[in-house]
Amino acid sequence: MEQKEKKPVKGIRIRTVNLIMILISCILYVLLILATVRVSRKYEDVHHSMDDYIAWEENNSLLTEGSAYLTEQVRLYVITKDPEYMDHYFTEVQVTRRRERALAQLEEDFDSEEAYGYLEQALERSNRLKDQELYAMKLILTAEGQEPPDLSKELEELKLTAEDQALSEEEQIQKAQTLVFGEEYQQSKDQIAKAVEDSLESIHELTHQKMLASAENLGSTMEKQRGLISLLFVENIITFILILVLIIKPLQIYIRCIKEDKMMEIAGSYEFKYLALTYNDIYEINTANEAMLRYQAEHDPLTGIINRGAFEQLRRLFQIKKTSMAFLIVDVDKFKQINDGYGHETGDRVLKKVAELLQDGFRATDYPARIGGDEFAVILPNMTEDQKDVIVRKIRKMNEILTHPEDGLPKVSLSVGAAFSAEGFTDDLYRKADLALYEVKEHGRCDLRFYIEEGQEG
Ligand code: GH3
Ligand code: MG
Repeated sequence: MEQKEKKPVKGIRIRTVNLIMILISCILYVLLILATVRVSRKYEDVHHSMDDYIAWEENNSLLTEGSAYLTEQVRLYVITKDPEYMDHYFTEVQVTRRRERALAQLEEDFDSEEAYGYLEQALERSNRLKDQELYAMKLILTAEGQEPPDLSKELEELKLTAEDQALSEEEQIQKAQTLVFGEEYQQSKDQIAKAVEDSLESIHELTHQKMLASAENLGSTMEKQRGLISLLFVENIITFILILVLIIKPLQIYIRCIKEDKMMEIAGSYEFKYLALTYNDIYEINTANEAMLRYQAEHDPLTGIINRGAFEQLRRLFQIKKTSMAFLIVDVDKFKQINDGYGHETGDRVLKKVAELLQDGFRATDYPARIGGDEFAVILPNMTEDQKDVIVRKIRKMNEILTHPEDGLPKVSLSVGAAFSAEGFTDDLYRKADLALYEVKEHGRCDLRFYIEEGQEG
């Protein structure tokens, strides 16, 4: 069979859509992963800033505690003159060294020069205060008049001014107490406290700035994250809609078309449209083939009118459909002689001519059929006996044409037997028409006779 030219198919390809969706998903997921990593980093930054602040606060209080401890011990010593307090004092200064340790820790961990500067100031003031404290202790030792054997070198080397040496014991004690309890001493202590406070404030400000920056960054990154998640959601919805429109819908349509045995509606993606068009082409070819086979099965290949098989089916149909009708059997007279005299081919052309005359001569609702070699039948539905003349006239006209040929074919004639029925194709209708035909053949041919019931007149 001749190959039909394929119609151009337009439509979105599932493969392309799939690739685009995979690409978009990959990009969105990579961006989302990056944003998530950034969010966790920013969170860690905020966390670190807070840890730093706490560490700074701890070291600050270590410094303050150290300083307060020294004050407390020197004051207790000056009041009680118990050397145990002096020991505590020097243990703190030489061994525990809380202030120095705190400062070293802060210097190592932080890079805020401003805050560190304040603390250095505090330590410096605290050290200056230490000189005052040592002097107070020396005054007490001198007033007491005896120095312990394990006296600190610093105290040992420290010399009182000549003026203070000249003071009475009472006055020396008095002076020592004024040195560590006096207003000047308290002012210095306040300055140390202020420096520590300033350092805390400075580091607080710094931490606050850092946290603000990190939090701002965290906020904008989280916003991006939300945006990306929304985009992924939208992308998913689009994917579902595309699957619905490009795949599921066309599949439903195609299944319906197959069930209803009809051509497919062109829908969906390029691939489905291509399938539908191919299916439709095959469907068309099959339908045409079926029609051709049916036509071939029902029609006589030589004359083109319906054949014996189709005639038998019609006969059964009119046995059921009980309408009034006329039935004719038509036989070509002495056809064998045509074959013998002019050849088989000419015989065929004569048969074709007879078929054409029958086809054209009767109504479109009548059924001329070739039921044998030179034998034809005609079923004429809705005909009653009062219409005999019409049939007679038509057959006469055909015989007129056949006996006066103008087409170069030999002269022939038709013998026709006819019968009527008021209630469809009755069992004996064929026999009746055949009997009538026999009568014609017996009485000289080239004529039409109707079957006459016994007792009736012809
Ligand atoms: P009668 O008037 O009694 O009918 O005489 P007849 O010669 O027509 O006799 P009959 O009807 O018995 O002969 C039919 C002939 O038709 C016999 C056969 O060779 C011939 N025939 C049958 N089929 C075909 C065909 O398809 N083509 C041709 N050319 N001849 C056919
Ligand atoms: Mg014949």
